[in-house]
Parts: sequence; C-alpha cells; structure tokens
Amino acid sequence: MDAHSEISRAIDSYREIVTGLSHEIHEHPELKFEEHFASDLLARAVRELGLKVETGVGGLKTAFRAEFGQGDGPTVAILAEYDALPNGHSCGHNLICGAALTAAAGLAAMRDNLPGRIVLLGTPAEEGGGGKIILLDKGVLEGVDAAMMAHPYDSEYSSIPALATQHLRISFHGRAAHAAAGPWDGASALSAVIQTFQSVDAARLHLRDMSRVHGIITNGGQAVNIIPELTQCEFLARATTSSYAAEIAARIVRCAEAAAAATGVRVEHQVIGGYKNMVNNRTMGAVYESHSEALGTPTHAAPPGMPTGSTDMGDVSHAIPSIHPLFQISDTGTGNCHEDTFVKYADSKRGYAAMIRVAKAMAMTAYDLIAQPELLKEAKAEFETNQGG
Ligand SMILES: [Zn+2]
Ligand SMILES: [Zn+2]
Repeated sequence: MDAHSEISRAIDSYREIVTGLSHEIHEHPELKFEEHFASDLLARAVRELGLKVETGVGGLKTAFRAEFGQGDGPTVAILAEYDALPNGHSCGHNLICGAALTAAAGLAAMRDNLPGRIVLLGTPAEEGGGGKIILLDKGVLEGVDAAMMAHPYDSEYSSIPALATQHLRISFHGRAAHAAAGPWDGASALSAVIQTFQSVDAARLHLRDMSRVHGIITNGGQAVNIIPELTQCEFLARATTSSYAAEIAARIVRCAEAAAAATGVRVEHQVIGGYKNMVNNRTMGAVYESHSEALGTPTHAAPPGMPTGSTDMGDVSHAIPSIHPLFQISDTGTGNCHEDTFVKYADSKRGYAAMIRVAKAMAMTAYDLIAQPELLKEAKAEFETNQGG
C-alpha cells in the first residue's frame, strides 16, 4: 500500500474516536488561555496513539507538543487551536484541533517509516491572546521547516487573506466634579472618548481598501452625577500589512490626542497586541489542493479581496512556510465565524465529515513535504522571496 492510502486508512479507523473528542470539546467551550479541558483531553488522546506529549510548553499551561518520526530529516508542524468565544465554539476550533489530531493519527500509523518528523502543536488563545506568538517567541517552533492548520468556514479555500492587526488601549484622565452643582470645575473624560470615536469615523474615509477599524468603550465613567474622571476604550486597526495597521493605529492615537486637547484631559495609550498578516505559501497550497481534489473536494486560493479576520497563524507564516486552508461546514452566506449560528455548524455531521477530509489532505501534504526534498526546497524558496518582497 502506498503512503497516502496508508494515511487514509488509518484516519478512517480513527474517525469515530476523534468525532467523539471534538464533540466533547464543543460541549465544554473554554476561553483563551483557560482551555484546560480541551488540552487535557487532546494530550490524553495523543498518548493513546502511543506518542509522548510535553504539556505546558512555552510557559503556556494549556499548550502541548508531541513529536514523532525518523531521523533528523525535515520537520512539519500541524497546529491545533481549541479556544472558544463567550458565545461558545462559534469559531469552530473544536474542528481545528480534531483535524490536527486526526492528521497526526494518520501519520503516526506509519511513524517507523516516515522519512522525517511531525510535530503536533497545541496552540492556545488564538482569539485575541496570540498564543502562537508566545510559542514562537519561546522557540517552541524552532527546527520546524513548514507549518499548517485548517479552519472551518462557510466556503472552501486553500488559503486565507488574513489581515494584520494592531490592538490599542486608550485611557483619558479628566477631573471629577459634581455634575449639577459644579460641572465647571470638572473636565470630562467621557467627552474625550466620544470625540475620539467621531474623529476616527471621519478618518475612515481616507483609509486604503481592506482596512478595518473597530472599537469599544470599556469604561464610560463612574456615576451619572459625577463628571467622568476616567474613561477607556480599545481599538483594533486591521490592514493587509503590519506596517499599514501601525499607520492606522497612529492615526487613531492622533484622534485621541486631539480630543484630549479639546476637552482638557490627559490621554495615554498602549499597543496591547497585534497579529501579522497571513502569507500563504502557494507551493504548499498547491499540494494541499491536489490532495483535496483527489479526495473529492476541489479547492483553490481565496480571492485577495475576500473579507476576512485575522489570526496568529499570520505570525507563524512570517517565520516558517505555512498554509491555513479554510474548509466549508455551512452553506455560503448562511453562517459566519463568531456568529451564534456557527456554533451548531461546528457540531454537525457535515462539520465532522469535512474535518476528517481536511485531516487527510493535511496529513498527505505533510507527508509529501518530508518525503520530497525538492518540494520543501521550493516552499522555502518561495518563503524567502516573500520575505524579501
Ligand atoms: Zn475566531
Ligand atoms: Zn478561529
């Protein structure tokens, strides 16, 4: 039997186990950095495959890492996300970790004959925590030649044009006063935050296509009868490149400074995080596409202008050749990531069937990358060219 058939057979025999695991994770949604149930369950499943698991890697309690294969040949990492949002698994990360675990199970079945090494990496806190950035900084991905993961969506694509972000926190310090008996003695931090949002909305017109700015007021004042002395807000600036996201963030800060000057309050800001844009490796993407098509689901690169979010896989893609295909679990336009309706698609027959299929395509792609040195060389050459450009 050839390697691809062997992978496919091993995955088919794992289907029931992983569907159960993925469903259990769906039923126990956990927020970023608190994914103890999911990471314990996944680590146990990896041990049951006969693999060694290191937990708490990179100083993150809910991260884990398993490595297997032969020699010191090429190493491909398959990444698993498992955090949820306040409305449950509305981003379907239970299917992401299910697909990653399944791909690892398929490759582990032939661990004694693998011409290289596979890393299964559990990456916490994609939803705003940047778990992968922490793991990258801590060197957990050192020695890895290529990385991949797959994300559920309402369409099928072999890539994602994910945007870069800058996450800003802005605080205004005013002067409290009795709002009726002596408002002239106060300086309103609320007026400053309101004016900031109005100025940002006016600046929006001048932003380049595909940019996004969205914010919330996290502290709007202390009491209705006191002139607010402290207010706070957060903004996410998104763009196709990190440098333009930073430019937008600087513009937001100028809006805040102008509002503070006009209202006589003091302003301070911090950049509290940010993701890089996704660089989709086309060499790896083409291999994934060929396997996906052979498995009955043709797929192609997402159109460049397709509306999308952001991911900490973007940061990985700037460090290592990477892919982040999207797999369809709902009819196009009927439900989108982060919406309540997506929660049920992430726990559907269709979702689990797609999870198994993309696990096969990822495992076969990973196998090809370690079995064909020329292919990995090409992926790396493309990566270098992208870095230069
Ligand atoms: Zn999400
Ligand atoms: Zn997601």
